[in-house]
Amino acid sequence: MKLKVLESPAEPWFAEGLQFTCSQCGNCCSGPPGFVWITREEIQRVAEFLEISPAEVVEKYCRKIGGRFSLKERRHPRHGGYDCIFVKEIPAESSKSGKLPAGKVEHTRRICSIYSVRPLQCRTWPFWTGNLSSRAAWESASKRCPGMNRGELFDRVRIEKLRDAEDWPEKPPTSERKVRE
Ligand code: SF4
Ligand code: SF4
Repeated sequence: MKLKVLESPAEPWFAEGLQFTCSQCGNCCSGPPGFVWITREEIQRVAEFLEISPAEVVEKYCRKIGGRFSLKERRHPRHGGYDCIFVKEIPAESSKSGKLPAGKVEHTRRICSIYSVRPLQCRTWPFWTGNLSSRAAWESASKRCPGMNRGELFDRVRIEKLRDAEDWPEKPPTSERKVRE
């Protein structure tokens, strides 16, 4: 008699975990035209955060595409890319004070002005299905995201939870502490 052997699914290429720590460069909130999908529930959360009505959030910050909402973008006056409507630039210390300690290089930071209520899509970056489909896809995405392949190690379970999240993950890859002003 032949015993039926249960097949175990193949190990994903990221089984040993992946590193990520956001450097706040803002690249993922800018660049070529794109979409940042936002659900009605998330619109409600943004409305509460901004202390305006959900209808105002839709009118001021969203565009409707095929029955769904995506955040508006605006053209950046200097680099010409498309910024998410919620990107906020924080000038470098050097431009504020006119001087910087010897050897220190500081760049303008670009942060999210609704960080604590940013949509799921932003909360789960870079652990998206597409980026995780292969090592090549991950490495390709890392060319625009200097936070990938450095810093905190995410194990397989956490990566898959973020990839498959349908609502806000308990522990998003970037914490309030790291990015929020
Ligand atoms: S997630 Fe990556 S691309 Fe986005 S701000 Fe952080 S380091 Fe930059
Ligand atoms: S909502 Fe915030 S984190 Fe998401 S793309 Fe816009 S600025 Fe970036």
